Amino acid sequence: MARFDNTEVSFQCFFDRDEFERYDFEHQALEFGVSFFGDASAVEREYCYSWRQLLDDDFRERFSREVQGLREAFGVDFYEYEPLEGYRDRVRQSLRGYFSESGYEVRREVGEVCAAETIQYDIDTGKTDFVGCEGKSKFVVCHCNKTPGWHVHHFRDGRIESAEQTDLIEDMAGKIEDKINTYQDIREDKQTASRFVSVLATFFSIGFVVLLFDRLGEISVILQEYVTGWNLELAAVILLLFNGVAAIALAVVIVKPYAHDFVFDWEIDPLDAQSPDDSDS
Ligand SMILES: [Zn+2]
Repeated sequence: MARFDNTEVSFQCFFDRDEFERYDFEHQALEFGVSFFGDASAVEREYCYSWRQLLDDDFRERFSREVQGLREAFGVDFYEYEPLEGYRDRVRQSLRGYFSESGYEVRREVGEVCAAETIQYDIDTGKTDFVGCEGKSKFVVCHCNKTPGWHVHHFRDGRIESAEQTDLIEDMAGKIEDKINTYQDIREDKQTASRFVSVLATFFSIGFVVLLFDRLGEISVILQEYVTGWNLELAAVILLLFNGVAAIALAVVIVKPYAHDFVFDWEIDPLDAQSPDDSDS
């Protein structure tokens, strides 16, 4: 066992070539091999090194790259976990719906369904969300500390496999990201609208009232002086129209995010869902 860049990695050392060749590495669990037999060319397996190579100047860089690659494959991040506080449950529900609509059996008892896998790969079942099973494949949606974000582990036949290349996860990640972004936009618009309303309310309640009742006489005098050629009534009508348009524009700005929010739902289309255009033909 060793620590490398805050990640636990393990090196299996071999002094015997046959033993080395028979050994079944768990590279996804960051298990690497080191040979103490033959020379550097004796090691041609992926993620295995001769002890001489460990001393190379560029080994750290190479190893760091390989650990990074394996770590990403161990759990595929699809979104950050922390910032979703407040509506994380709805995202989780949406993901469960996605898996079940895509033909997976969804179970929340990950510790039971994936008992062997979670123990073997040291996955904290207190931080797993749910598992989607189909045939020999199990996708565990999880926020354990194996990767920084909210992620998916993919097990096939009891062994961990990269979830990175699966259509399902790629499709899911894209759709849920769009959903979350839309939701965040609506929330932001609503906040802007409500700030707008409070500013306007303050402005109107203080400024307007004072102005209206205190200076009404003066205003009409000034208006009569400067707009002598104008009909005061016409000016009032224009002002009123202008006000009306402004009020409608304002109402749209304020109401729009709430209308968006009203029609928004967290459901995402399952994998291979046909768009309405396709199903007609
Ligand atoms: Zn995890």
